[in-house]
Amino acid sequence: MQKIWGWALAKELYTLSTLLSSKYETNLSRVSELIMDTLKDVENIGVYLLDKDTLVCLANRTKTTSHLEEMDLNQITPENYYILKSIEDKEIIYFYPKGKKNIIYAYNMVPHNFRYTKVLINSVFDKSTLLVPLVFNDSVIGIVIIKGKNLLLKKLKYGEDIKTMLLISAIYFASIGRFIASVIDKQLDPLTKVSIRRSFEINFNDKLEDYKKTKAVFSLLIIDIDHFKNINDTYGHLNGDIVLRKLAKILFSSLRNRPGRGQDFLCRWGGEEFIVLLSCDKEGAKLVGERLRSAIDNSEFSVGKVTISIGVASVNEAEEASPDLLVSLADERLYKAKEQGRNRVVAE
Ligand code: GH3
Ligand code: MG
Ligand code: MG
Repeated sequence: MQKIWGWALAKELYTLSTLLSSKYETNLSRVSELIMDTLKDVENIGVYLLDKDTLVCLANRTKTTSHLEEMDLNQITPENYYILKSIEDKEIIYFYPKGKKNIIYAYNMVPHNFRYTKVLINSVFDKSTLLVPLVFNDSVIGIVIIKGKNLLLKKLKYGEDIKTMLLISAIYFASIGRFIASVIDKQLDPLTKVSIRRSFEINFNDKLEDYKKTKAVFSLLIIDIDHFKNINDTYGHLNGDIVLRKLAKILFSSLRNRPGRGQDFLCRWGGEEFIVLLSCDKEGAKLVGERLRSAIDNSEFSVGKVTISIGVASVNEAEEASPDLLVSLADERLYKAKEQGRNRVVAE
């Protein structure tokens, strides 16, 4: 790797640090992409999470080499040997071919004690490889594997290679961030068993990134049960809860739930309010809203008739879309729906 000083380095530092400090940055593909654009020698970055003896791919960017969706660590290969060592010893391992030999550096990750050991072995690898274990709460949760054909780094000594440090920290923080995001994302609301409000932001920002890149419009529905206080007052809070649970189930099953890009997102926003994110424009969202409204309107509840009102907003309505902005836009329309007599969808 060439040493770049002055302006170019400052620019890289700036780009990477913006990325790191960005509040919502959990998109690993983007971090990897940026690193690959910055460091020309990097051919492949794979982020893997550890699931017993298997590494499951979380994100992968590649220029030339193909990547594996899963790696079985029980298979005895030279690379697996070092991957296991890196995971077990919590060491950053870097190896690169030099002549007929491989030079291997292992750095323990004890803070402020970035000592390394250097070993020479007969050649087994034809690419430079950097293994960075992902340590979270003292346990290794996965590993980042970075490959390059040429020397990725000349020296990886403390303080000598700022770019390497940045590379490691950028991918590290993004991976941990993504890990936390995926844990939050799996949490469900105990009563209704749909996603919790906290995962809304993660899903919103993933969609927002897609939108900025591909102009794939997405929309938001805010759903509020009509006169729910009456239901509670008349039938009691427990029956109110039963209504909430059944209503959430109907909403959920009326949406597209197959995992993938077009998957709809539903969460309990609070009390008797729900939010849906849809990968479609305003017209599409109005149709889905109408479908949800009529699904509830036509369902039988133990307390009699239950209806919902819905406010719709789309990402392309705002110049600088943010979760707050889109929610408040949809909220204004929900308010209109209530004013106009409830049990309706309002999108303007
Ligand atoms: P509107 O049609 O204007 O929305 O009338 P509303 O009565 O639904 O509106 P409001 O927001 O005033 O009342 C919401 C009620 O939802 C208040 C609260 O008692 C009830 N609620 C909120 N969370 C829960 C819950 O978890 N379980 C039950 N049973 N009731 C809840
Ligand atoms: Mg309400
Ligand atoms: Mg209500």
